Amino acid sequence: MDRVLRVDMTNRTTAYAPLSKKYRGRAGRWLTSSIVHDEVPPTCHPLGPNNKVVFCAGVVTGTSAPTSARISVGGKSPLTGGIKEANAGTGWGRRLARLGIRAIVVEGQVEKGLWLLKIGKSGASFEPADRWTGRPLSEVYPDVLAKHGGHGAVDVCAIGVAGEHRMAAAGVCFSDQEGRPTRYAGRGGLGAVLGSKGLKFIVVDDRDAEDVEIADQKLFDDGRRKMAAALGEHAITKPKGALNSYGTAVLVNIINEAGALPTRNFREGRFEGAAKISGEAIFEGNKTRTGECLYNHACSPGCVIRCSNTWHRPDGTEHTSCLEYESAWALGANCGVDDLDQVAELNRLCNEYGLDTIEIGNAIAVAMEGGLARFGDGARAIELVHEIGRASPLGRILGAGALTTGNAFGVSRIPHVKGQSMPAYEPRAIKGIGMTYAVSTMGADHTSGYTIAPEILGVSGKLDPLHPDKAELARNFQYATAFIDSTGHCLFIAFAILDIPSGFEGMIEECNGVLGTEWTADDVGRIGKAILKLELDFNRKAGFTKLDDRLPEFMSRESLPPHNVVWDISNREIDKVFG
Ligand code: SF4
Repeated sequence: MDRVLRVDMTNRTTAYAPLSKKYRGRAGRWLTSSIVHDEVPPTCHPLGPNNKVVFCAGVVTGTSAPTSARISVGGKSPLTGGIKEANAGTGWGRRLARLGIRAIVVEGQVEKGLWLLKIGKSGASFEPADRWTGRPLSEVYPDVLAKHGGHGAVDVCAIGVAGEHRMAAAGVCFSDQEGRPTRYAGRGGLGAVLGSKGLKFIVVDDRDAEDVEIADQKLFDDGRRKMAAALGEHAITKPKGALNSYGTAVLVNIINEAGALPTRNFREGRFEGAAKISGEAIFEGNKTRTGECLYNHACSPGCVIRCSNTWHRPDGTEHTSCLEYESAWALGANCGVDDLDQVAELNRLCNEYGLDTIEIGNAIAVAMEGGLARFGDGARAIELVHEIGRASPLGRILGAGALTTGNAFGVSRIPHVKGQSMPAYEPRAIKGIGMTYAVSTMGADHTSGYTIAPEILGVSGKLDPLHPDKAELARNFQYATAFIDSTGHCLFIAFAILDIPSGFEGMIEECNGVLGTEWTADDVGRIGKAILKLELDFNRKAGFTKLDDRLPEFMSRESLPPHNVVWDISNREIDKVFG
């Protein structure tokens, strides 16, 4: 049942092999990180032939487990030089699981041209993709879908112009439930790695495939019911709850209120225009423009949380999907832009060109700091993203991410760790997330260990965000997250399962039901730790040391309003996280 599809881009051949015994039970991030650890030379060039891109569905992906259609993408990151896993919600991973493919490993490199790989019940085949290159993704997706069975029969993974030009801010795009190119495994530049291989599209067609095998149906059903009940009950995840009503952008006002919304390239912790780019503003704006009360939709089949939104133009037509918290912040507050239509246009362009919105929002903010535009000039920011779409020399600098942009323009205030720019939470004002940024194997990454849950949202207890004693918190959240990332569940289940013990039990029972294993609550930490161990080992062999686990110097020097705090956690405390 569990097969690995090897894709050799040098010779454009494919071959199936059974999942090796060693990897049995591993899926999602556990499997991407295992394969990258075991097969990719840690010191290889990320854009050279020795790097690999690994796609893995989660343990329960493809089943009826709620909110479980995540696909993990792994490789060596051109942005950080370390190991990378990024995941997205899409029907693509479910189709892969239904075909009995636990992993796709893309290796080698074509000499020239870009290709489309089609995977179906009868095998895998290539066709040239050159006619679809250099174009916005929303233009080419309908064409690719129509040629290969149509929306509903297949899902598409792609890189945009940024990936074609091997820019380090290029993400890997997946189709959403409407067939739009909107869902991203965005971080770390894995789109550039796919571009370096010469692979532009992977189309997955699961027609005539069988359902995912379940070892113990009753146990799985019990677990699924517990998980669904917890998600349906929790204030953050329930229908018409926080995420379903206002999307992840519900956090704009909350984090702003906490004084931790990075503003104008991490100069302040509060943005005077926050309310205008918030989830509430998106909800009300959509109501005015469409005449309807639009609750959010699911990005992928089987999601019961349904946090994904669509923003509409003044005439009621669709402008962009999805306007996430991270994107609204990166392209909004962090650039000093408070016009939601301009922020939406920036978001739309990132989707069109295949870019990570967090990295690009930071790159533009750093460029503003370097004098390329003034903070708040949304029109100029839009021009700058077009430069990336044109792959002009300036666009290539911006598309290489915030660190390269800062270096090119002589900026010393670059908010990054290990070359990956920071997400939407100020580490000086929320110390636990700062610890996560510092030690994460992925570079600055909130999804590595979302300590915002207890530090701001009061999930699984309430901690003082300014209290410095956060080593254990950062460690435990990273272990738990690595496990969740391996199940195929969206990380947003964490709110419910951290607060509702039966939901946590349900997650483990679902996994045991599918795999026939006997994992217990203790195995969540054990497996999470094992995943981190692999990733830390890869990074160590790639040349990382403790000195890479540090926040940028300016954060220890400049105090952040409104709390007027600096980053004051000692290196000794940081090094305690992973011992
Ligand atoms: S909770 Fe949101 S991001 Fe997660 S799978 Fe559902 S719609 Fe997608």
